[in-house]
Amino acid sequence: MRQLAEMAAAGGVGQKAGVALAATGLVLTVTVPTAAGQAPQTAPAMEIAQQQPEVTASTDAVVAFSRASVGSTVDPDGRLRHMLESESAGRITPTEAHHALGAPLDSIDPSSPFGSRVSPLTGVAEFHRGQDFVAQCGAAVKAAAGGTVTFAGWHPYGGGNRVVVDHGNGLETTYNHLASFSVSVGQKVDRGSLIALSGTSGASTGCHLHFEVMVNGEVVDPTGWL
Ligand SMILES: [Zn+2]
Repeated sequence: MRQLAEMAAAGGVGQKAGVALAATGLVLTVTVPTAAGQAPQTAPAMEIAQQQPEVTASTDAVVAFSRASVGSTVDPDGRLRHMLESESAGRITPTEAHHALGAPLDSIDPSSPFGSRVSPLTGVAEFHRGQDFVAQCGAAVKAAAGGTVTFAGWHPYGGGNRVVVDHGNGLETTYNHLASFSVSVGQKVDRGSLIALSGTSGASTGCHLHFEVMVNGEVVDPTGWL
């Protein structure tokens, strides 16, 4: 240290060298340990550690704020996209999920709910994997949010003509018992765009729309997302 200072003084730039050393923290590292052993070293280290969570918290606050500022009335798809960019669909809270998806039909009239029920076909208890909505045969079925079609075809386990839209990061919606569909696998769809016409194909007792929401491959109650 002294050597450095002497060298700097000899070069006629003593003051400048001192400022530069202080700025890099080199001066503090050299003087503190000789004065009071290890304590002065650990104290600043703890201060830094304690400051870290504060920085993280304020970053979270900014993210939460910008989420809210995107606004559901202005751009609901932008809001959903933003949520899915920052976290997996499985981590989205019920409050965030509420209204995140748009209605798959122009007129929403819930019939058979998601969950345990007695099958209208077999009379046996079953787990109803989606939410049924009243729909005339041939009613327009619309994408609940923007995404990519990952399935458009016949569902061998009762769904009949079925379309699946992947919204990204673990969130999917499915549309079942369709009379017909007008999308193909790989196609990008916008929220509200026409993807199919309702019907009664597959295991169905009459025209209606069986709508599913899947989070990381597991069905959840669609009403929590509408
Ligand atoms: Zn159903």
